[in-house]
Formats: sequence, structure tokens, C-alpha cells
Amino acid sequence: MEDVDQTKLGLLERLEQGPVICAEGYLFELERRGYLQAGAFVPEVVLEHPELVEQLHREFVHAGSDVVEAFTYYAHREKLKMIDKEHLLEEMNRQALAIAGRVASETETLLAGDICNTNAFAPDEDPSGVRAMFEEQIGWAVDAGADFIVAETFSWGEEALIGLEAIKATGLPAVVTMTFHQELHTPEGWTPEEVSKRLADAGADVVGLNCSRGPTTMLPLLERIREAVDVHVAALPVPYRTTEAEPTFQSLRDPDCDLIPGDRPFPAALDPFVCNRYELEDFARRAHALGVDYLGVCCGAGPHHIRAVAEGLGRTPPASRYSPDMSKHAFFGTDEKVRRENQEYAAKL
Ligand SMILES: [Zn+2]
Repeated sequence: MEDVDQTKLGLLERLEQGPVICAEGYLFELERRGYLQAGAFVPEVVLEHPELVEQLHREFVHAGSDVVEAFTYYAHREKLKMIDKEHLLEEMNRQALAIAGRVASETETLLAGDICNTNAFAPDEDPSGVRAMFEEQIGWAVDAGADFIVAETFSWGEEALIGLEAIKATGLPAVVTMTFHQELHTPEGWTPEEVSKRLADAGADVVGLNCSRGPTTMLPLLERIREAVDVHVAALPVPYRTTEAEPTFQSLRDPDCDLIPGDRPFPAALDPFVCNRYELEDFARRAHALGVDYLGVCCGAGPHHIRAVAEGLGRTPPASRYSPDMSKHAFFGTDEKVRRENQEYAAKL
């Protein structure tokens, strides 16, 4: 019966009880599958192949996500202008929300609306256009019955604050996450802890980081944020092996391969840098130990990464039924039914 009661809880009530997992990474996963174009990165797949978006939502829930986040990242007016398809804006948003809402209600998970970096914010310009972009997307999310709104991937702290204000006007909980690039401050010069504190003071329910940085280069910033704020903290790294010298997935270089156009592995040649599931499991455990309680994985995530996060938190989502068990492997297995000569040959494989 406790499970049934759990499903009635909203985001904040769930966070009071324990960590919440929110899967992301739709852009990169659908790009890899051949249904979304790297570059503009607009989620036209929502209209062109809604069944694939729905299936991916289901895979992430199967893997342990507590949230179905509508695929409206980069489905904003500025991006649709860029690809000359502004007329599809409302339909794309409403469709993305309807798909996510269907999966959320069937699986008794939470439905999140999503707004993001507009790439149209400039500190010395009138922000009313940016604000209007947020308001229209949030309005469609409210119409669709979103349980909360995610505002993500912001470089500018000021832009994130505008997004937060637009969310707060609806009364829904707000999750606001910043992206830190190579520099350890926002373009306006705010540190991770400073921008997080400003967002928390302005009413964000959850603050933190998403995108660009992998587990290794995001963790130290999370520690600083956790110490600076009293609200819940979010962490959604990209699943790539970023380093101190190359702390973001855009800054990674692959000197062993001279076949990559432009010599930049981002975004379509990052394969050799992908974290394995054990690294994500370890990240989830470490981040949770720091006090981070809203966890996910951003661009590059596959369902196996989400399952690893869930298992790192001690959970066994439905997909855990298929987590590796090598005991019956034909050569590496330990089961008594495995042929001894195969076991002996294992070292030669
Ligand atoms: Zn991302």
C-alpha cells in the first residue's frame, strides 16, 4: 500500500522522502538513432516520430526514472526561427507534453515541463523577448498538467532568474540547473555557489548543475553548491570522461583520431569518451553522499546509465532484472553447468 501512496506525492514530497531520479539525454540518444539532427538540435522528432519519443520515455522509466520530462528542450521560439519552422512551435510543445504526460500517468511518475537556455539572452538588452519565450512554453506545460517545471542548461545566471520568475508565477515547483563551461563562473562572473544561492533566494525549490561536465568535473562544484544552499540540489552530468584539462564535453579532444571534422569530438564523435555504467553508479553514490538528491544524466545518456544511477541509490528498477549476471557465461561463468574446458580456455579469449 505504501507504493500506492507514494505515487500520489508531488516532487517536493518525494524529495522529502528520498532522492528523485530524472532521466534526460533525449537529444543525443535520438540523434544516435538517426531521428534528430546534430547542429540545430531541434526536437522535430516529437512531430515526425512521436512513437519513438514515447518509447524512449518508457525505456527511461523502466530504467528507474521517477520523472518523465517533456522533450521541449530547444523547442523554443528562437530555435524554431533558426530552422524557419516557427509555425510548428505550439504544436511541437503541446505534442511533446502530451506524449510525456501519457507515459507519466500510465507509469505513475511525475510529468515535468522543460524550458532552457534561449541563446538570445544578452545582459545589456531588453529581456522581454526571452521572458516571453519562457512564458509561452510554461503556459503549455501548465495546460498539460505538469507537476513541476525544469529550467536548465543556463550559462547566464540572469537568464536563469528570469526563467525561475516565470515558473514561480504559476505556483509550480521549480528545478533550475546551470551549466558551467571551462570557466568556474557564469558569463556575468558568478561562482557556482553564488548563482545557486541567488536562485534559491529567488524561490527555486531545487538548484544545481546539468550538462557539459562529466561526473569527475561536476562533483567538486556540487560539493561547493551543497554547502552554499539549504534547498535541494540537482546533478545531471553528461556521461563522458571529462578531465581537469578538458572539463567539458565540448573541450574534449581526441588526438588519436584524425578523421573527425573540425578536430572536435563534440557532438558526434564522443564515443571513445563515454562513461560506463559503473562510473555512473559510482557518481550517483558519491553525489548522494554529498547531499545531492535530484539525480539524472544529461546529453549522451542511455537507459543503462539511468539504471546505473538507480542502482547506485540502492534501487532495483524493472530493468535491473536484466542487469549483468556472468555466472552462466559460456567461458567466464562460474555455474557448475559451465563446461570446465571452456572455463579453462577463458584466459585465451
Ligand atoms: Zn545536456
